[in-house]
Amino acid sequence: MTEPMLPEAFKQKMEGLLEAEYSAFLASYGEERHYGLRINTLKLSVEQFRGLTRMELEPVPWAETGFYYREGDGRPGKHPHYHAGLYYIQEPSAMAPAKLLDVRPGERVLDLCAAPGGKTTQLAAKLQGAGLIVANDVHPDRVKALVKNIELSGIRNAVVLNEDPAKLEGAFTGYFDKILIDAPCSGEGMFRKEEDMAKVWRPDWPEKYAEMQRTLLRQAGRMLKPGGLMVYSTCTFSPEENEAMIAAFLDEHPAFAVEPPRLRRLGARRPDWLGGRYARGPKRPAPRACGRTGSRARATSRPRCAAVASPRPWRRRGLRPATARAAREAGPPRSRRRRARAGAGAAADPREALARFAAEQLAAAPYGAAELECRGEHVYAAPAGLPPLDGIRVIRPGWYLGSVTKQRFTPSHALAMGLRAEEALRMVTFTADDPRAVRYLKGETLELAPGELRTAADDVPAKGYALVCIDGYPVGWAKVQDGMLKNEYPPGWRWT
Ligand code: SAM
Repeated sequence: MTEPMLPEAFKQKMEGLLEAEYSAFLASYGEERHYGLRINTLKLSVEQFRGLTRMELEPVPWAETGFYYREGDGRPGKHPHYHAGLYYIQEPSAMAPAKLLDVRPGERVLDLCAAPGGKTTQLAAKLQGAGLIVANDVHPDRVKALVKNIELSGIRNAVVLNEDPAKLEGAFTGYFDKILIDAPCSGEGMFRKEEDMAKVWRPDWPEKYAEMQRTLLRQAGRMLKPGGLMVYSTCTFSPEENEAMIAAFLDEHPAFAVEPPRLRRLGARRPDWLGGRYARGPKRPAPRACGRTGSRARATSRPRCAAVASPRPWRRRGLRPATARAAREAGPPRSRRRRARAGAGAAADPREALARFAAEQLAAAPYGAAELECRGEHVYAAPAGLPPLDGIRVIRPGWYLGSVTKQRFTPSHALAMGLRAEEALRMVTFTADDPRAVRYLKGETLELAPGELRTAADDVPAKGYALVCIDGYPVGWAKVQDGMLKNEYPPGWRWT
């Protein structure tokens, strides 16, 4: 994109703000664009991914799992590793807000404006399965993309909501350790990436969005624990939506204080745009064309130690017997026996069907300390410690495990994506170069060569659900029978 595409009023405003730095700002639109991806450390380590991929990756200085890839590296969104959820394609600057939130395993995290989920997936990777992430977005269509990205990334401890934050405040007052408000904004930082945004932008947008952002910040502030940390970020340059927004919030909320951002080689905060009212530290470099700004505020009304959550790793429930025969011999767990005695003649509990599936198809029950929650025929593993969510539009109360019809459990794609290969009793893995990897992703039935079906033990029958993997990482289910893989890859996810 060349500079003349920018709206005239925008250019005048930026010239007034940047003064001597304005020409460097304009010139940045002509510079080479940077492409980024973030390795999903819920699935594998940075080193493991770098050993697996042919892409030439260069580290993003402010995000340890973020990398630049070259435009000539093919299409990373069209690679079997992408379908295995091994990475998320994300602007390098967009990796900054979640990094600033400094999430630790065991914390309760809210991503208030989450769709399509770039930052949710980054925050969840930080949690490493311990704790909880609530991902909310007010737009129903955008929530669908959010759910898909959460499932693709194999996140087990996310709750997805589709609500006006005003409806969340009551349920979650003072609940979260960390909150990200990646606010809807006038999008001035997106003009280069999405030229249409430059065409529709209007000079009154910053004020219009500021109104909405003020409300979101206040609502988020009420849901933060004393001593908690929240990050407010936008992809726009306008001081009305950034520096002035934070200054007004601090005026209204004396219990909050701004934390200085600590990111290597990234900084776009311009305290001087407010005459230094709340400035700390030296002036930052001029914003770049794709810059994203982020501010961290901490609630300090009570002693910090009262609010810093100590890590609460998942308590693992006892592992299921490793083989199908052992499972049959062990019989139903005590809680199931109790329910069976109590409920003879009652409608079957979907949890029973899930337990049967787990015994016959999985090497270990992967739900940890999560509560099993049934909604109609659908079964979810809901993270522990959630408050009642009455009256709130809950799209996913937790990890979607599958559905039950006629007492038969059908595993969900989300279950496959959240499992590790060794958690299934049967698995088949193709290398990313094997044409069958793409044929599986296209929904084709495949023939297996002898020995290609791997089982957790010798006595596991060669018939049943198999976890299909690419380079050892799950991409979906198939049913194995007579050496054939009957494809269960969901039609909506298929490689086209
Ligand atoms: N965090 C996202 C990511 O990294 O993929 C991008 C978020 S985007 C900048 C802002 C989001 O805010 C949009 O998805 C929009 O639907 C949502 N939104 C707009 N108004 C909202 C509101 N009042 N409450 C919650 N979400 C809202």
